[in-house]
Parts: sequence; C-alpha cells; structure tokens
Amino acid sequence: MQIGVIGAGLAGLTAGIELSLAGHEVVVFEAADGPGGRVRTDLVDGHRLDRGFQILLDAYPETRRLLDYRALDLRAFSPGALLRWNDRFHRVGDPLREPSKLLDTLRAPIGSPLDKVRILAFRRAVAKGTLAELWQRPETTARQRLEDAGFSETMIERFLTPLFAGITLDPELAGSSRVVEFVFRMLGAGDAVVPALGMGAISDQLAARLPSGALRLDSPVRAVTARRVVLEDGETVELDSVVVATDLSEAARLTGIESRPWKGVTSVWLRADSPPIDEPVLVLNGGGTSPINTLAVMSQVSPDYAPAGSSTIVVSTPSTEPGVVDQMRTQLGQWFGESTFGWDLLRIDRIERAQPVQPVGRARSGALQTDDGIWICGDHTRDASINGAIGSGRAAAQALSTARDT
Ligand SMILES: Cc1cc2nc3c(=O)[nH]c(=O)nc-3n(C[C@H](O)[C@H](O)[C@H](O)COP(=O)(O)OP(=O)(O)OC[C@H]3O[C@@H](n4cnc5c(N)ncnc54)[C@H](O)[C@@H]3O)c2cc1C
Repeated sequence: MQIGVIGAGLAGLTAGIELSLAGHEVVVFEAADGPGGRVRTDLVDGHRLDRGFQILLDAYPETRRLLDYRALDLRAFSPGALLRWNDRFHRVGDPLREPSKLLDTLRAPIGSPLDKVRILAFRRAVAKGTLAELWQRPETTARQRLEDAGFSETMIERFLTPLFAGITLDPELAGSSRVVEFVFRMLGAGDAVVPALGMGAISDQLAARLPSGALRLDSPVRAVTARRVVLEDGETVELDSVVVATDLSEAARLTGIESRPWKGVTSVWLRADSPPIDEPVLVLNGGGTSPINTLAVMSQVSPDYAPAGSSTIVVSTPSTEPGVVDQMRTQLGQWFGESTFGWDLLRIDRIERAQPVQPVGRARSGALQTDDGIWICGDHTRDASINGAIGSGRAAAQALSTARDT
C-alpha cells in the first residue's frame, strides 16, 4: 500500500518509520529544506543553535522506545536548578539524586521547609500508577493542582512557575494539570539531556531510518484528500492513504479540524569568551518568567555546542513581544555584570507557534481520522512535547495499519 505523510517533524518521521516497518511504501512530503520541524539545529559561526531552546527528558517512554540514545551521545544537565533570586544564585538540588546538595536546597529561598517536603510527596504522587492512568486522572488547571498539593504561593511563584513555564511555555499555569504531572514524573524519573551535536540530531537519526528516497524535502503540500496529495507546484500524487503530520494550524487548514491558540517563545543565542556559569545547570529566574525565564550555557552541557575557546549561551522567555530581547540583555547585565554587553548575538529565535495550548478538558486522542478518511497525527493530538509528537506518529501508523487489515 502507498501512504503519503505530510510533514517530517517528529510525528511524521515516526509515522513514516512505523508504516514502512509494517510493510507499506511511504512518501513523506516536507515543506522545509530539512527534516525535524520544530526540532532542528543549525551551525552558526561554529556554534550549534537549536531552533529555540529545548531539552529531551530521557525518561520519555516514546523516545526510549524509538531512539538510539547511545548513538545520540546524550549529555545531561545536572539535576535540579540554579535559581536567581534577590541578586544571588541559589542551588536547588534534587535531594533524591544529589544528597550532597540537600543542605543548599533546604537553604534556598524557594519556600518553607514544608514546601520542600511536599516536593517529595508530589513526586511520589505523580509516579504512582501507569502513564495511561496519569492521563485519565481528574483534571484541573496546573496552578490549582499545585495549590491542592499544598505548595505555598512563594514556592509556586519563585520556583514551580519558572520551572514549568520553561518547559510548557505556560507562565500562568492555566493549562492542564495532567501536563504538569506528566512533566514532573519525567523530571523525577530521569535526566534533562541534549544530544552532543544538538537537538536536531534526534530528527536526523529518525530521518536516516526512512527508506531511501522516501523523504521529499522542499515539497509544500497545498491540499489533501483521503487518497490524494496536491503539492504547491501543482503536482498531484495518488495514494492509498494520507496522514497529515503537520502542526495544528496547518492540519486545520488542510483538513478542517478545529485549531487552538499557540504559546510562543523567544530564545536569544549569545557567544561569550568564557562561560558565565561553569557547570551544566539550568538557570531559572526566581523573580518570575520575564524578561528572562531560563538560561543555559549549552557548551557546558555539550562542548560541541561551541568552537574551542568560546561559549554558547541561550536565554529564553515565554513571550514574543518585540522589546523583550533588549530587556533580557539588560537583565543579563544585572546578573553577570557589564561584560555581558560585549557578548555577541548569534541569533534570535522568535517562535510564535512553539506549542499549542493544552487546556483543561481537551481530548487527547493520539491519532485521528476525519470523516473524510484523512489520518492526522502531531503533538496537538497528544501533549505538546517530543514524547507526544513521537507517540502520535506511532499511534497513527498503528491505527492506519489496523484499519487497513480489517
Ligand atoms: C522552542 C520550543 C521549545 C520546546 N521545548 C520542548 C522541550 O523542552 N521538550 C519537549 O519535549 N518538547 C518541547 N517542545 C515541543 C516539541 O518540539 C514539539 O511538540 C514537537 O517537535 C512537535 O512535533 P510535530 O511533528 O508534531 O510537529 P512539527 O515539528 O511542527 O512538524 C510538522 C512538520 O510539517 C511540516 N509542514 C507543515 N505544513 C506543511 C505542508 N503544507 N506541506 C508539507 N509539510 C508541511 C513542517 O515544515 C514541519 O516540518 C518545544 C517546541 C519549541 C518550538
């Protein structure tokens, strides 16, 4: 059977791999000049810049199943975080994995000692049961879930909000409590990592597993039906089935499914002669998520992110306001001194469509088939993450193969 997949992001690549493993002939049509969608890395003046700061949580079940971690040469952030609060950096360790940092953590100004005990209790609560059960739990907003867990306002504002905003781009904590529970479970079960050569290595590894000639780059699709793909240049390809694996806005345009608003992010990539922080740690702004939410010296996590003798730094904020970059640079000066104004700007990634919102009450279908018979996958059908995208591609391939067999 010949199957057309639209989009070579993680969802489309996964669908393509799984469908060809199931014995189908696959063509993946990708609008861009390379695979990966939102997960790509570019080499700029010898520095590796991901398209917006992002990390892989190595406990993700879908990536564990599909990726060759060893070949990706994963490099881990140290557990915990460095919190900027009140003109100082404070260590917030992971007491279970770094007992030596326990004292620092207890002293960190992120809440009461009771809050720190509640972190352990919350971690135990989210680790209970299967992941399928977690996604079925009673749902409320992320903020309500944290309040119900007993965390103080200080703990939520100063530590949990910047932490989750950095991952879910939801500084209001207005999204689904299940997303926060899932992320917290993954953080507790493994490390935050990046491949040595950048996040794009994940996409490259998947693309290399497609049969030769299956990936058609620079091939934007204008329209689809259940058995036909029409490219922007007018070429029409007849197929037995079509899987739309684009982002949500494009899937809505191509198939008429309902769209949702997006969460945006700005990541600023900078070059410095020496690292402002000499360890592979995630830095969080304890004063809120703006202007800076997170900072990481990527070349401390993997030296391949920078050429010898220089450092690659990324600062991010869940905002795409035009003035935010200047504000971030001013804050960098306050954190590390005036020398930061001499850091070279490598690139600004202002990404309006980073993650679709994940509101309370959203159906998490995994893979969809429209009434017209078009299959749909992508992070928007599960959770907006690397795990969600890969899982959706796998689910679509399985559902399509099963439907064809019966
Ligand atoms: C800045 C940023 C930070 C993030 N941080 C994290 C993180 O730390 N951890 C995490 O797990 N997740 C993170 N995410 C989310 C994660 O990257 C996404 O959920 C995931 O990559 C989505 O994959 P996808 O395949 O569903 O969609 P996409 O990656 O959007 O892929 C869709 C593909 O379809 C192509 N396409 C679109 N329209 C057409 C068309 N008409 N014809 C042909 N091709 C088309 C696109 O070019 C694209 O390649 C982040 C995302 C961003 C942007």
